[in-house]
Amino acid sequence: AKSSGRNTIRFFLPDMQAEADERLGLEKDLRLAIAHNQLRLYFQPQIDSDGSVCGAEGLLRWEHPEHGMIMPDRFIPVAEETGLILPIGDWVLRTACRLITRWSDDHFGTLLRHIAINVSPWQFRQPDFPERVERILADTGADPRLLGLELTEGVVIDNVADTVEKMASFKALGVKISIDDFGTGYSSLAYLKKLPLDILKIDRSFVEELQEDESNAAIVETIIAMADHLGLEVIAEGVETETQLKFLQEKGCGRYQGYYFSEALPIDEFEAYVAERNDT
Ligand code: C2E
Ligand code: CA
Ligand code: CA
Ligand code: CA
Repeated sequence: AKSSGRNTIRFFLPDMQAEADERLGLEKDLRLAIAHNQLRLYFQPQIDSDGSVCGAEGLLRWEHPEHGMIMPDRFIPVAEETGLILPIGDWVLRTACRLITRWSDDHFGTLLRHIAINVSPWQFRQPDFPERVERILADTGADPRLLGLELTEGVVIDNVADTVEKMASFKALGVKISIDDFGTGYSSLAYLKKLPLDILKIDRSFVEELQEDESNAAIVETIIAMADHLGLEVIAEGVETETQLKFLQEKGCGRYQGYYFSEALPIDEFEAYVAERNDT
């Protein structure tokens, strides 16, 4: 047992070293990613009950010169640990707002109800976060009503007083607030009622096993009914099959996002997708 323990250690250490090295490498490269123009914002269409594109979620990609396209699950945690998420988050906001302006000028904005981006807890907790967003909106000339911010439940219940205050600032601007991955956290009904929210996004995990798991079906139904009751819109994430879509339609969920329609697309492909689907 002793020697196998030693072996475990011997095999484990180089792995940990490799992992630490990779992380350090990523961190070093990530510091340069903005300046070297390696970040990309892709857009995943959101589909309305009539089949048209009604919005999109911006999703970050990192085009690394050596490692190729890196997905956010690999570098967002590093960005959050190092604080780099703040400049990266600003870049995402600015990029989304520039596109909102461009798309409004193209009459694209009359079709799209919002372009949403993901906000990290670190970003949201900045005391001046609403002012930063306001400044970026002003700099880019973007219509605040076309911007959506996606927050996770954890952020929302972490400091309710601060959250309510910040959300009120966004409400005043007309910026839409979504709760992302809804159902996976612990936000209670009482909090939900207190917060000036616009949209609940049903987490992909519930939609995924809709057919296999009756309790997931019940959860999805409950979320839809609750959103309706609170006057919130609801978007189902991770819609991959027609069966899932049918179930959601039957239960009264009118907006969908998922591979059944489209994955997240580079800007030009997203524009083409909207043009084709909305017949402009
Ligand atoms: P999320 O906000 O829950 O984003 C949805 C994720 O599900 C995206 O992964 C999307 O590509 C994927 N997805 C969409 N439809 C389907 C589907 O039908 N089936 C399956 N299996 N997956 C689907 P992605 O782009 O890899 O992003 C992962 C996470 O990284 C996001 O989860 C979000 O938490 C984070 N993230 C992405 N961009 C940003 C950003 O700009 N800022 C911050 N702070 N986080 C970001
Ligand atoms: Ca999201
Ligand atoms: Ca989500
Ligand atoms: Ca979609």
